Amino acid sequence: MKNRVMPPILLKGARIIDPANNKDQVGDLLIKDQKIDSIGADIQCEDAVETNLAGKWVVPGLIDMHVHLREPGFEYKETIETGTMAAAAGGFTKVACMPNTSPPNDNESITRFIIERAERAGYCKVLPVASITRGQQGRNLTEFFDLLQAGAVAFSDDGLPVTKASLMRLALEYSLNFDALIISHAEELELSVQGCMNEGKTSTKLGLKGIPNAAEDIAVFRDCCLAELTGARLHIAHVSTKGSVEIIRQAKARGVRVTAETAPHYFSLTEEAVNGYNTFAKMNPPLRTEEDRKAVIQGLRDGTLDAIATDHAPHDILSKECEFELAANGIIGLETSLPLALDVLVRQEGFSPLEVMKLMSFNPAKILNVDGGSLNPGHKADVTIIDPDFQFCYKREEIRSKAFNSPFLNKKFTGRAIATIMAGKVTFDLNGLLKAR
Ligand SMILES: [Zn+2]
Repeated sequence: MKNRVMPPILLKGARIIDPANNKDQVGDLLIKDQKIDSIGADIQCEDAVETNLAGKWVVPGLIDMHVHLREPGFEYKETIETGTMAAAAGGFTKVACMPNTSPPNDNESITRFIIERAERAGYCKVLPVASITRGQQGRNLTEFFDLLQAGAVAFSDDGLPVTKASLMRLALEYSLNFDALIISHAEELELSVQGCMNEGKTSTKLGLKGIPNAAEDIAVFRDCCLAELTGARLHIAHVSTKGSVEIIRQAKARGVRVTAETAPHYFSLTEEAVNGYNTFAKMNPPLRTEEDRKAVIQGLRDGTLDAIATDHAPHDILSKECEFELAANGIIGLETSLPLALDVLVRQEGFSPLEVMKLMSFNPAKILNVDGGSLNPGHKADVTIIDPDFQFCYKREEIRSKAFNSPFLNKKFTGRAIATIMAGKVTFDLNGLLKAR
């Protein structure tokens, strides 16, 4: 399957959802020479692999702007190959990976290594995010220009905040030379470092040290102020609190160049998932309250939050099968992101499929300044086929990721990606829908 050059693919009678053009209509779509050739009412193409997609959705390839692929250094948790395999199975054609590997992605050779590894695996395009500071040590800036030349799409010390405000200011000022994007892992460590879950009723009940919302709110506010001061482009990662949503909303209203993402777990779970000391519900920032969850959904609805990103964080079982305080932070997310968005946002909250595709493809492409999120003829054929009615149980043995640290194990879902096409090549095909006959 890898890198197989495909004959033309003709998708017939699908619901074609194109967030770039605000279009949602039934029709045919032809993929030819790795590009979207045409969209129309009754397209014919003799040598094409043709498939009837009545009731299915055809959307631009999904883009996840925040994942951890763990390579180099933590290949026992995930590799670029297994991570991108999981991405393709989740409907993704592009993922941006964070630099907290070992060694961290703070130089061009690591950036190039990641891109080459992903190309060789052939499942999903990987867009490396390089670190803001050397070794993610929070002291000296990396060489932004060289890293951008090597293929980095943004800068972040994710996993850690840039604790010194003066250094964050410098990074934002420096980024202006290239109009580069700075991604903030917003966390005030002075308030969070002892905690392991949200500070509130559940942490009191469980006797665990909590992390207050303020640990995030303060850091989001600081970085919005610094973006305003410098005029640089800032993106806030994994927003989890009502306060941060409001701070970002106000900053946007003032014209600050800030964008933001949240993760599926923040709009689908609350701190109660931690009950029973469930380490598969431990992440940073932590799951919050119902009030926060509702505020995050409102942020997605009114455009305060621009993107859904998984923060896919695979771990080996030993890092999770231990005391709650000692367990590693993070959950995997690539294969549950779309099912959760369909479940919570579309079916429970009444979002239109078009709105969700904006959050999962068009907006991330725009923020990262890469192509994607569009079904315009002539565009590279990054296309995902979704069956909104497909029922399945998220079982450990069917997960493509090397890890299985997910609070959604054994959950029943309705709706998922059933095929993924990257640059005209089939990278995932659940039921052999696109097999040449
Ligand atoms: Zn982070």
